[in-house]
Amino acid sequence: MSNDHETTRSEPWSEAVAAKSSASSLAPGLYLVATPIGNLEDITLRALRVLGAADRIACEDTRQTAKLLGHFGIQRPTVSYHTHNERERAEELVAELKAGGRVAVVSDAGTPGISDPGATLAQEAIRAGIPVYPIPGANAALSALIASGLSAEAFTFHGFLPSRQGQRRSRLEALRAGMGSEPPMTHIFYETPHRVLEAVEDIVAIFGPAQRIVLARELTKLHEEMLRGSAAGVLAELRTRASIRGEMVLLIDGSPATPGVSGSGQPEMAEMAAAPAPTIAEEVAGLMRSESLSEKEALKRVARSRGIGKSEAYRELQRRRAERR
Ligand code: SAM
Repeated sequence: MSNDHETTRSEPWSEAVAAKSSASSLAPGLYLVATPIGNLEDITLRALRVLGAADRIACEDTRQTAKLLGHFGIQRPTVSYHTHNERERAEELVAELKAGGRVAVVSDAGTPGISDPGATLAQEAIRAGIPVYPIPGANAALSALIASGLSAEAFTFHGFLPSRQGQRRSRLEALRAGMGSEPPMTHIFYETPHRVLEAVEDIVAIFGPAQRIVLARELTKLHEEMLRGSAAGVLAELRTRASIRGEMVLLIDGSPATPGVSGSGQPEMAEMAAAPAPTIAEEVAGLMRSESLSEKEALKRVARSRGIGKSEAYRELQRRRAERR
């Protein structure tokens, strides 16, 4: 692995961070650091070392990043850098970089600059002749793509679809019109729980009910789920749900639908195999593992997400444990 702008090689994070993460081990410049999209284990050793050595960490939300830094025992000054102060903060950070500073940029989750702040600062830094280093890691779009079963040979990432139906439909119609390219182009979108039904309805209307799509929900988290099937099948499944929650990525196959056969040559799966619902004990254990919560905190979170009281959740947890003994 080439490591020409840093003077130390990757070490286990505990050592890297504990070794005071000395600023001298990091070359001056701007570091765009990817952070986990749900599972805290999805951070690289290099990301931890860079975060531990930066003079300043520019965060989309300092409180959110404080949790991540706290989990890994990193103590560095942070500053907010979000859509509303991007321009002015970029000016201030570029001045610091010009003076030889090492600034790391993180978003709340995933890769900075991908539907998140980061690009403006990178552009300003490049304009000022400052080195800009990517510190790659988690990204929801690519994670969804590689597990979708759709072709990853050629793909387009579109960010979020427009919230207005007219604009959303025009965008989808343009994609439908461009179909038939070789190799077929998989389309990737970020979606929100409150708009996903409308988006899938529009896909059914424009691409036809048999168009193969994938909805990747809660990637890397406890309730991770991939809904793969025809647009009509996925729509029918979503409509059966009392509520649709979580973070999600929507993908559309780049080949026009052939009923019964997907663009990737796999049989169409109109019926989705939903994973069995996890028990409270499994959810609690998962949160303790993935987010390093105490049992009490995890139980509180699980109770809230299920809309039940803490004591009810606790009783259920104890009952399950007793059954297993
Ligand atoms: N910069 C981030 C990245 O690299 O993926 C994306 C930030 S964007 C503001 C947030 C959107 O990414 C969410 O609304 C959702 O569409 C998608 N997303 C983030 N985390 C996700 C996850 N764990 N599972 C599925 N989608 C996720």
